[in-house]
Amino acid sequence: MAKQYAVIGLGRFGSSVAKTLYEMDYDVMAIDTDEERIQEHINHVTHAVRADSTDEQALKSLGIRNFDVVVVAIGQDIQASILTTLVLKELGVKYIVVKAQNERHGQVLYKIGADRVVFPERDMGVRVAHNLISPNILDFIELADNYSIAEVSMSNKMVGTGKTLREMDIRAKYGCNVIAIRSGSKMNVAPNPDDIIIEGDVLVVLGSNDDLKEFEERA
Ligand code: ATP
Repeated sequence: MAKQYAVIGLGRFGSSVAKTLYEMDYDVMAIDTDEERIQEHINHVTHAVRADSTDEQALKSLGIRNFDVVVVAIGQDIQASILTTLVLKELGVKYIVVKAQNERHGQVLYKIGADRVVFPERDMGVRVAHNLISPNILDFIELADNYSIAEVSMSNKMVGTGKTLREMDIRAKYGCNVIAIRSGSKMNVAPNPDDIIIEGDVLVVLGSNDDLKEFEERA
C-alpha cells in the first residue's frame, strides 16, 4: 500500500508539503487548529481535520499512529512544535519530520526524537545564494555536513562547441563527480566518459562544498 502522510500545521510550508503529496496521489491527512485553514485545504488533501496537535487524546483518536510519516509544520509557536513532537513520539509514530525555526529549536527536536528536522528558510537561502554566485547554478542541495549536489548549466566558456566528460576531466580537476546529465528533457543518470556535453546541458555534480565552489565559479 502507498505510504500515508499526515501534515500538522497548514502555514505556507505545511500547505505546500500537503498539497504536493496529495497531487502525487498519496493519502494526506492535514491537521490545523484554524478552521479557516481547514476549509482552504478541504479540496487539496484527503482529509482536513481541525484539531490541536498538542492534545494527545485528539491525535490518538485520529489514528495518527497508523501514518507512515507525520510532518510537523508549526513554525512560530516553538512550544507547540516541541510538544507535538513529544506527543507523536509517545504515541509511537514511525517517522517524524519537523520544521525548525532556528538551530536551537532543531537541536531540541533531535533530542526528543524527531527523525528529521528541516530548515526551509535557511536551506532556501543557501540555494538562492549559490544561484546568485553564478546564474549557471540552477540548484544546490546540502547532503551532509560538507557535501552537496549542484545542478550546473554548461556555458560556452566551459564546453565550447561540445566536449566529452573525459575531456572535461571534472573529477581530476575539481574533485567532483558527475552523477547525471540533463539534456533538454532527457536525463542520463549513468554518464559515460564518452558522453558529449554541449552548451545548455545541465550537469548534476556531487562534491565537497569547497570543490563545488571552484567548479561553480568556472561554470
Ligand atoms: P509558514 O512559514 O510555513 O507559513 P509559520 O512558520 O509561520 O508557517 P505558523 O503560522 O506559526 O507557522 O503555523 C503554521 C500553522 O500551524 C498555522 O496554520 C497554525 O494554525 C497551525 N498550528 C499552530 N499550532 C497548532 C497546534 N497546536 N495544532 C495544530 N495546528 C497548529
